[in-house]
Amino acid sequence: MKGNFEIKRNVLLNPGPATTTDTVKMAQMVPDICPREQEFVSMMKRMREDLVRIVHGNLDKYTAVLFCGSGTMNIDVCLNSLLPEGKKVLVINNGAYSTRAVEICESYGLPFIDLSFPVDELPDLDRVDKVLKENPEIALVHTTHNETGTGILNPIREIGALAHKYGAVFTVDTTSTYAMRPIRIEQDNIDFCMASAQKGLMAMTGLSFVVGNKEIIRKSAGYPKRSYYCNLYLQYDFFEKTGEMHFTPPVQTIYAAGQALEEYFAEGEEAKWARHTRVFQAIHKGLDELGFKDVIKREWQSGLVVSVLYPDDVNWDFKRIHDYCYRRGFTIYPGKISKTDTFRLCALGAIDEQDIKDFFVVLREALQESGVRVPVVYKN
Ligand SMILES: *Cc1c(COP(=O)(O)O)cnc(C)c1O
Repeated sequence: MKGNFEIKRNVLLNPGPATTTDTVKMAQMVPDICPREQEFVSMMKRMREDLVRIVHGNLDKYTAVLFCGSGTMNIDVCLNSLLPEGKKVLVINNGAYSTRAVEICESYGLPFIDLSFPVDELPDLDRVDKVLKENPEIALVHTTHNETGTGILNPIREIGALAHKYGAVFTVDTTSTYAMRPIRIEQDNIDFCMASAQKGLMAMTGLSFVVGNKEIIRKSAGYPKRSYYCNLYLQYDFFEKTGEMHFTPPVQTIYAAGQALEEYFAEGEEAKWARHTRVFQAIHKGLDELGFKDVIKREWQSGLVVSVLYPDDVNWDFKRIHDYCYRRGFTIYPGKISKTDTFRLCALGAIDEQDIKDFFVVLREALQESGVRVPVVYKN
């Protein structure tokens, strides 16, 4: 680590941004540099290749395209850029992030089918097959890998196989699994996946990327340009020709992501996933001891996000519990699922089992301090 650097460590249990290492934080402190310099261009080239390596993509076939923005930008980019004229998008929708994809289709006036399923259930693959068979104009199928609002994990390999059976391109929002749950882009039948630097990579906000099939990107050169700033082919083409982002990149954020990638490969895919799994299991153990209930069946959970029901206790006040934990360095996150009040505990970030044990000591104190009965109670 460069220089003397002391900064409070917070344990973020919210669904991103995640807790980062001090070395990643420090990596932002670099001499001022114009991003058109060769040094910066070379770093981005390496980064784009590393981002493909994380999902085991063959570099002849797959590429990564960087954007300056939060993760939603990737969904926007893929949907608006990869749909040929006169064709239709199919969104397999069982949660808030796929609903976001539907809203993007609406905003661009793209023809789409919103094939929705209950938020606490897996999509019915027979229905997906039937809709694809009956609607040959579907050219793009989109879904979310880990629906971060609930923590349900969707069967992307199976959905991808169906998309390909009917000749459609498959785009997957892997923002909350990429660089955590192992992904194999080709075997998982993914044409495009995506993420932002502040989740699985444990870097800073402001850098997002789409990893996908070069051939399909090149083909999309002739599709309607529905956005000037957020077009996949235009950004790809500029990268290919110059090695640069078309417009000003988030320079310091990219340096931090470079450091985070080094740390990713040093930790290793398997060891990192084992660590996230340890954290996830510690979250379940802590919740079980306090009597909390999950929203999603355990066998359907992504291993990264636990969505928890508010207990039926007049003294339960999420904000009060949150504030108590926050003052002690732990962040928990509220969220409504349909009409149900829930909060989330996530296994993202540079944290380990001991952080979760420490958190549950604080959570128990917070419940007692608020007068919430422990173990917590539910009416049914
Ligand atoms: C975090 C996240 C995003 C991006 O959300 P932003 O608010 O744009 O950062 C997109 N999809 C999923 C599944 C996510 O978890």
